[in-house]
Amino acid sequence: MADELKGDVLALKEELIALRRDFHMYPELGMRETRTAEKVKAYLNDLGLDVTTGIGQTGVVGLIEGNGPGKTLMLRADMDALPIQEKTDVAYRSKNDGIMHACGHDGHTAILLGVAKLLYTRRNDFSGNIKLVFQPGEEGYAGAFFMMHDGVLENPTVDAALGLHLFTTFPLGLISVREGAVMSSADLFSLTIKGRGGHGAHPEGGVDAILIAGHVITSLQSLISREISAQAAAVVHIGKIQGGTAENIIADQVVLSGSVRTLDEKIRTLIADRMDQILKGIISAFRGSYTLNYTRGYPGLINETVMTELVGKAAVKTVGPENVIEAIPLMGSEDMAFFLEKVPGCFFFVGAANPDKGFSHPHHHELFNFDEDALVIGAETLLRAALDYLKTA
Ligand SMILES: [Zn+2]
Ligand SMILES: [Zn+2]
Repeated sequence: MADELKGDVLALKEELIALRRDFHMYPELGMRETRTAEKVKAYLNDLGLDVTTGIGQTGVVGLIEGNGPGKTLMLRADMDALPIQEKTDVAYRSKNDGIMHACGHDGHTAILLGVAKLLYTRRNDFSGNIKLVFQPGEEGYAGAFFMMHDGVLENPTVDAALGLHLFTTFPLGLISVREGAVMSSADLFSLTIKGRGGHGAHPEGGVDAILIAGHVITSLQSLISREISAQAAAVVHIGKIQGGTAENIIADQVVLSGSVRTLDEKIRTLIADRMDQILKGIISAFRGSYTLNYTRGYPGLINETVMTELVGKAAVKTVGPENVIEAIPLMGSEDMAFFLEKVPGCFFFVGAANPDKGFSHPHHHELFNFDEDALVIGAETLLRAALDYLKTA
């Protein structure tokens, strides 16, 4: 049985590669994946599935019904590309100027289509449902959130969710599965410090927003060093600062913007609260005022215990126990986290680097590419986990 499944996935390899390369050639930015969504819909329709489009703008949902009532497992792939000019010289490089699949989402979409095909042919082997979710806008658009807003977790109600990311930080053949915190939350803030302008020769007449900003920048780092445990991981980062007009003028305003990342929801809230208190104290001490716009972005991605065990077993069957690792959490973020806030699930990483073939560039790089053998590994792991879930549910 196990070998039959491996063989079935392997037999699909050329099709997975062809699908991936097609998506790669015609990348689309977040929330505008109309061609990709059309292709996905057509593929699922050809299989014989009911398909709903326009969920979360360009999201596509397909449903595979098993041989009787049971639980519903969501399998999720993201479809969007990035505003990057591709610099690779592969024959299937992007035909859309300034847009590139530089994160591997073309591979995720291809994998889920392949898995859909194999699950559909096995639909008499399990009860319950597989909900295939092709989401738009992972790269900062919160496409998962908008799909939930449009009811993707209902009709039928989703009981659990699985997703994967091809990952060139790990070599081909390795799979990383981890329980608990896997990826960071990502919040954004914009801070406007207001002082009072004046002549640089007469500091007593003004309120220097640049001096205040200097104190604010260094004090915000004390959130990390003094407010949270040395064992906890968090980042407070200011990435942009604007203020002042000339050497001899006291700046009346400085705008700072940055991000906050944490692996723990309590620390996320603590940092946001303490940030405001520190700003209030420092800025008022220097006679300034401020407005802080703090935007809660993607939540932290948390893998649930049972679903993680399920994926771990599937990964071991796919690549062997020696090739399944539990990598440390990443401080990057991922909007699969929105789904995993609502339903138990697991998001795992499939190694896709192969320096011998030149596949070693990081994600979001203009030369990014991955070893397509990883498509088979990802598909097999997802397929095994899905079948195990619906057999034991
Ligand atoms: Zn990305
Ligand atoms: Zn990605």
